[in-house]
Amino acid sequence: MNQDFKNPERSNRIIDEIIEKTEFFKIIFESLKDLIVILDRDLKILYFNSDVLKNNLNYGNKEIVGRNLRTFIYNKDIEKINNIINKTTSNSKHPITEIRLKDLNQNWIWFDLKIIEMQDKKTNILYLFILKNISEMKNAEEKYKNLFESSPNAIILLNFSGIIIDVNLTTIKLFGQKKQDFIYKPIHIFTDLYPSEIKPFFKQIFKAAFKGIFPEPIEAQLKLNNNRLIWVLIQASLVKVRQSVLIQIIYQDITEKKKIQLLEKKFKEQLELEVEERTKKLNHALKEQKLYLDQILRSSQFKTEFMSTMSHELRTPLNAIIGFTELLLEGAYGELHSEQKEVLNDIISSAEHQFDMIKNILDISKIEAGHLKLNKSTFVINNIINQVYSIFKPTIDKKNIQFLLHGLDKQYEILADPIRVKEILLNLVSNAIKFTEKGTIDIRFKEKDKKWMFKIKDTGIGIDQKDFNIIFKEFKRVDSDYVRSKPGTGLGLSLTKRLVNLHGGVLWFKSELGKGTTFTFTIPRN
Ligand code: ADP
Repeated sequence: MNQDFKNPERSNRIIDEIIEKTEFFKIIFESLKDLIVILDRDLKILYFNSDVLKNNLNYGNKEIVGRNLRTFIYNKDIEKINNIINKTTSNSKHPITEIRLKDLNQNWIWFDLKIIEMQDKKTNILYLFILKNISEMKNAEEKYKNLFESSPNAIILLNFSGIIIDVNLTTIKLFGQKKQDFIYKPIHIFTDLYPSEIKPFFKQIFKAAFKGIFPEPIEAQLKLNNNRLIWVLIQASLVKVRQSVLIQIIYQDITEKKKIQLLEKKFKEQLELEVEERTKKLNHALKEQKLYLDQILRSSQFKTEFMSTMSHELRTPLNAIIGFTELLLEGAYGELHSEQKEVLNDIISSAEHQFDMIKNILDISKIEAGHLKLNKSTFVINNIINQVYSIFKPTIDKKNIQFLLHGLDKQYEILADPIRVKEILLNLVSNAIKFTEKGTIDIRFKEKDKKWMFKIKDTGIGIDQKDFNIIFKEFKRVDSDYVRSKPGTGLGLSLTKRLVNLHGGVLWFKSELGKGTTFTFTIPRN
């Protein structure tokens, strides 16, 4: 459209003709997007392209014909038009100005206005208003302006020569200067906005601006006028503000984030140091512990080896002592008188005591070292219990105690180590006999759902509650004259408990001083 009016003289002629006679140009005007209004000196509307007017302002012909355009113009904008018209000399070019016209719904619509002054044939002054609807652009601009001003980041608009065209509120607050201090000055004179370290970045920006491709944002430290140091993330992009394209520089204050990052880095470094230090200490401790464990292992292996060698070495001469003493007693080397026999009997019982002790110590240390393996098989428990019964029957008879068996009404097969089960029973029954002078000793067997249960019950001296906790400890015996008068090492129960546990069973007892004791143990059936 502007093209048609480049030559004002020619335009005038055309308009004259339009007004006077031809409908042809009216048709052309109607086909345009811009609103064309022809007005007289007082801005009374003589002509307008009605379809375009309807589209833009929604008026029909009757609301417009014969009206003065001023009634539709925003008050302040009338001033702008007056200024243009008053300065206007015929045929001259006039600057485009922005005005608002009221539409049918009382909304103000923005237009770019170009005024062309003409004369008709009677030399009356006429005006041709060419109005271009810029409301969309204005809205976008308005939105940008709002964002620009309300942004928490400092935004600076530069032209391609690096001159500051506009700065937003945050820029003013952050850099502590007035708007007019910035406007139309080259950015490079502001050392706080443009420290020398970021010159290369800005060079890249200006170089890239023509292509519209900008470098990646950078982080930089700025020194403000009040000497405060801040960290910013600077990024650039292009914005179109009205007719011009500008470079938008955004300074995002990341001081807090940077502080946190620095703290985190410091904390991480500190943590890494500590972890390293602790790992070293831990490794050292682990090494020491391994050495210690190795030593324990070696010493426990040594102990087991030592014990088995020693027990062998100790038991061989004991066997010889017992064997030869028995021969002496049997009179193999000549008849002995009763005192000699008594002494020899003492030797045998001492040797047997020693023998038992060595065997028990060896078994306990083997169990402790995990070297004692059970030799399990399925066997008839009745046989074992009967054997135990037979072994002790003579001794019990001598003591005038009743010896009873319970629960062996039929044959029971159990899965266990028969030698060790017999050993357990021998230990418990021998204790019962040792510590019982009258009454009964019962051996009870019971087959339950998940276990076999054995009870050895006596009516002997019983155990005082205060001694309950020493009963299973190695080399511990109840401290009483009676107990001292009986042979024993204090190892029997300790080994017995371990043997029961090795079978996966439990051993416990109930006792009342002076009334008797019941030892119970179980062996699980699986
Ligand atoms: P030892 O019988 O060789 O002394 P044990 O380890 O078998 O060693 O028993 C430890 C101690 O428990 C015994 O010395 C005794 O004081 C007490 N004790 C064990 N069985 C009985 C029992 N049936 N009645 C009373 N006291 C017992």
